[in-house]
Amino acid sequence: MTSRFFGIAPAALVGKSINILSGSRQPIFPFDPGSPRSYTNFERTLAGPNNGKVSTFESAGTAIYDEQGRFAGMRGIDRDITSKRQFRDSLARLREELADNMQANLVGQLLSGVAHELNQPLSAIVSYNQACIRLLESGGAAPGEIASAMRATASNALLAGDIVKRLRRLSARGAPQAHPTSIRGLIRNAIALVDHRLRSADIDVIVRTAAPVSRMIVDPVLMTQVMLNLLHNAADAISEAMPETRQIRVSCEDHENGKTRITVSDSGPGIPPETLKRIFEPHFTTKAHGTGIGLSISRSIVEAMGGTLECNSVPGKGASFTIELPAEKTHDDNEHPTG
Ligand code: ADP
Repeated sequence: MTSRFFGIAPAALVGKSINILSGSRQPIFPFDPGSPRSYTNFERTLAGPNNGKVSTFESAGTAIYDEQGRFAGMRGIDRDITSKRQFRDSLARLREELADNMQANLVGQLLSGVAHELNQPLSAIVSYNQACIRLLESGGAAPGEIASAMRATASNALLAGDIVKRLRRLSARGAPQAHPTSIRGLIRNAIALVDHRLRSADIDVIVRTAAPVSRMIVDPVLMTQVMLNLLHNAADAISEAMPETRQIRVSCEDHENGKTRITVSDSGPGIPPETLKRIFEPHFTTKAHGTGIGLSISRSIVEAMGGTLECNSVPGKGASFTIELPAEKTHDDNEHPTG
């Protein structure tokens, strides 16, 4: 905290108590003056003279004692971190806003897929139940026939329960927690969540995972959101351009840089260079009903987990998104490769 900030000449400060800086307006130290102590990373917000500009300082100080062990003063430094703090606050606000928007967007997309997915086991339950009633009313049905219709009812009810469980896992909020995660399982789960959309748009998904492949250190809920966003974008691109080949390829392998790499490529129209430069900007979209936040928040999520998300595209030949993330040294051996 400088003499400049308080409008007092340095010479006027020598030998004085630090309290002359603030007058009686605000305490400079939050500590008990009777028991001074050293401190680091202490943040305080102070107003300049005449309630002027408010600034935030980060301070560190050491208590100094005289030969008799009496407290003689403090020696320390103050750094003006006002702009750093403002940047940090606005970034945190933006992240929160984007995360909420993306969550709402994804939940909307998921709900329509899940509603359809749930409909199938529910209709099956109704049909098997009606069949049971008919068999019972006919009086002549073999018990085995009725039992098998009831077993089919139960397995469809379990399937419906699984679908709901998957959705609940995905919408669970909480602090991000990165831990070693089976990337094959995560990819399978994400594809299952968009399966209905892909099937109805006649898009094939080809998954190739190297065997063995390391487990990625990620927050599985956030990482699933990233995968869903890439899959939805690929499906949007293919659906808009109606190319002859309708295909999304997902691959996963260990990279020599010690990270594990996931690639999501599509057979869509690709991205022209001038658009490619901007796709990770928040709110950039080329879609009539796009929000333009999916890729920017996906990149923030991947970066927060210590990774990178990049895109390559040759116009006319599709787009390819590459994620690299820290991996565990041991391999994901209990999973079977797919593809
Ligand atoms: P939104 O999907 O709401 O537009 P995104 O941030 O997810 O927001 O994507 C930003 C833009 O990036 C899209 O509008 C589109 O122009 C481009 N884009 C993303 N993925 C692809 C893709 N697979 N193929 C072509 N363009 C893509």
